[in-house]
Amino acid sequence: MVDTAALASKILEGDRRMLARAITLVESRRVDHRETAMLLLEALTRAAPDRQALRIGLSGTPGVGKSTFIESFGLMLTAQGLRVAVLAVDPSSARTGGSILGDKTRMERLSRDPRAFIRPSPSQTHLGGVARRTRDAVALCEAADFDVVLIETVGVGQSETVVAEVSDVFLLLLAPAGGDELQGVKRGIMEVADMILVNKADGDLKAAANRTCADYAGALRLLRRSPQDPEGYPRAMTVSALHDEETAKSQAIAGRQTAVSGLAQVWEAIRALTDWRRDNGHWDTRRAAQARHWFMDEVRQGLLARLNTPEARAALETLGAEVAAGATTPGRAATVLLHDHLPQNAKANG
Ligand code: GDP
Repeated sequence: MVDTAALASKILEGDRRMLARAITLVESRRVDHRETAMLLLEALTRAAPDRQALRIGLSGTPGVGKSTFIESFGLMLTAQGLRVAVLAVDPSSARTGGSILGDKTRMERLSRDPRAFIRPSPSQTHLGGVARRTRDAVALCEAADFDVVLIETVGVGQSETVVAEVSDVFLLLLAPAGGDELQGVKRGIMEVADMILVNKADGDLKAAANRTCADYAGALRLLRRSPQDPEGYPRAMTVSALHDEETAKSQAIAGRQTAVSGLAQVWEAIRALTDWRRDNGHWDTRRAAQARHWFMDEVRQGLLARLNTPEARAALETLGAEVAAGATTPGRAATVLLHDHLPQNAKANG
């Protein structure tokens, strides 16, 4: 039995070990753990209702430089005195059986930083589980008084949507392209990205990075400008996660603590966007809309869980086959299924 009050007070003090334990709790699919996790989150919300971190979502394909970016960017922020948590959303790990994100060996220096907390993605997750876990883990990090929560994803399947729905700012990291790779980026992610960062803008790749950045800047201008965005957003920038890292290293050796250019500009651009949203009332409405989205998501998950009985699964199978064969309509099949397997719901609907 978990002592939620004790766990809550440790988390509020910023105890990283207890935070890790609490994340394990919210990841659990056991019903009693779920109930304890809910009590814990409620206790934390009551105790520290105003604690808010800046939640930054970051997506990019493997090899684009996410861990390099997170390490450099994270170290820059912790050097400013900020506390940084890194979470990973990786539904693909269910298939590969291993964690490929948020791996501490990929961010060695950041993981040793006392102001940072890195949580690798758990293996064996399904997307519904990923969404809830991410949301709850973010809430726990906020209660633990982190200033920035970075949420990393490879963007497999729906994971980008999950991350976008939990982030205040969503960054898309891209590599310099040879020309017509713009088409390769899913339109959906362009629509949720607040900033596109073309990484590896250094050495031989610099010119290609600049061209790619100009292409995306053009594409973003065509896409939209939402009323939640100030002039100039969504925006595209070039960065060099690696070059910044080297600069930071040499500065650390020299004992200096100056902000590194490039990543510092990214941070400035993020701050400019979030400040603008706060000043114009969009920050709160965005978070409110996200909370509403997650509520509906929980309702959906809850209903689906109630259909997770052997009888209902069999009926889903049979009715699905009938629908596919044209023997019945989707509407009729759904009505039959819900009537037979969600009895209270059927009564409420007459
Ligand atoms: P991830 O899979 O997205 O996390 O990518 P990694 O951070 O592991 O980086 C993949 C490779 O790209 C590594 O060999 C990095 O050293 C390299 N890399 C990352 N960022 C940069 C950069 O800014 N410039 C250059 N030239 N290489 C980079």
